[in-house]
Order: sequence, then C-alpha cells, then structure tokens
Amino acid sequence: MIDINKIRIQIEQKRDALLSKIGRLKRDDPFAQTDRSLIVEPGTDASALFGHEQVVVLENKLRDELKEVERALTKIKKKTYGVCEKCGKQIDLARLMAKPTAIYCLRDEREIEKKKR
Ligand SMILES: [Zn+2]
Repeated sequence: MIDINKIRIQIEQKRDALLSKIGRLKRDDPFAQTDRSLIVEPGTDASALFGHEQVVVLENKLRDELKEVERALTKIKKKTYGVCEKCGKQIDLARLMAKPTAIYCLRDEREIEKKKR
C-alpha cells in the first residue's frame, strides 16, 4: 500500500519549490516590469531580450510541471490518486514512487509525450 500522506507532503514540497522557482525567475526577467509591446521595438537590448526569452521558456516548463503537481494534489483530495486520468487503470506503484506527481500510467504518458512533439 502507498502512504498517501507521505506522498501528499512530497507533492506539496514539490509545489512549493516550483512556486519559489517561478517567483525567482520573475525577478531575473529583464522585461518583467516592462510593457510587453516594447520588446519588439528596434534598439531593444539584445542580451536583455535573450534573457527574457530564456526566462519565458523556463517559466512555461515550470508552469506545466506545476499544473501536474496541482492535479496530483486534487486527485488526492478526490481520492482518485494513483488512477490514470486517461484509461482509468491503476498506475504502477513503482512509477508513483519514482514520480509521485504522475497522473497518467506510463503507456499513456508516452502517448501524450509523442503527440506533443
Ligand atoms: Zn492510462
């Protein structure tokens, strides 16, 4: 059996880590305080623009992760944790141990990853 409380704490810690990373990113973004329409204007500092793009890419990645984390937490609340969102089957215990935020079984996650590309 899985210890759902332990897993919940693990997931919550992951969520907090993600939130503070996103917060830090925003401070690093050279354009965070600037009107976004200014970005395309000629004469924009190239290194600042590059820095901004890096931040956006990274932030999107972190936000995707955060979404998964929050979905896993919702599933714990609804007591559907550990059940694949796609096929409704039980997710492998070993998989949940390795990745507590998993909301799909391995097979379906691979399918989804394939479609993303
Ligand atoms: Zn599945």
